[in-house]
Amino acid sequence: MARYTGPVCRLCRRSGDKLMLKGDRCPSPKCPLEKRSTPPGGRQPQRRRGGVSDRGIQLREKQKVRFSYGVLERQFRRFFAEAKRGPSTTGENLLVLLERRLDNVVYRLGFADSRAQARQLVRHGHILVNGRKTDIPSFLVRSGDVVKWRETSTKTEYYKRIAEEVDEGFVPAWLGLDKESMTGRVLNLPGRDDIDALFNEKAVIEYYSR
Ligand code: SF4
Repeated sequence: MARYTGPVCRLCRRSGDKLMLKGDRCPSPKCPLEKRSTPPGGRQPQRRRGGVSDRGIQLREKQKVRFSYGVLERQFRRFFAEAKRGPSTTGENLLVLLERRLDNVVYRLGFADSRAQARQLVRHGHILVNGRKTDIPSFLVRSGDVVKWRETSTKTEYYKRIAEEVDEGFVPAWLGLDKESMTGRVLNLPGRDDIDALFNEKAVIEYYSR
């Protein structure tokens, strides 16, 4: 299954929510959703006779989570199956698993403007976990893991810019960042309160429970 390579703003318009897929542009007035919120093609689902079906709402919520974390459907289903075996509710387990992905951690630490960019950094081998090069974006971090840059990557212009811009104030409580050494640490695993309230995980569970 191929990764989506079309315009990412289209995914936000389809979901009807700002999924923050484009870094700096998202909080700015340049975001197309600040100007209009109709889905691609100009159709407005709420205008359809009878409104959006329950199934339609569940699908939209599922896609919102999937697009946000940049996960393919097949992989998302694998996460869902694993979430069912987890310690908390399936919905919370699912979000926690997604949040523990290495590409998401790199994004949350402020090493990238978007998860897509973070995924690229990981894939290109710029990131070490506990001192070992880890180039698998779906790698799941554990409590106590240390995430930092590979030595050679710290010579790049990109790194220098990020090292100046990175702000510990935006790092979630379950992660720690030492700005001086640009080193992140997983202080503990995230809970539901650490994850965007934007997601309606109950609808996602209902979508897969049929
Ligand atoms: Fe979504 Fe960001 Fe594009 Fe706005 S700018 S539509 S939040 S990806």
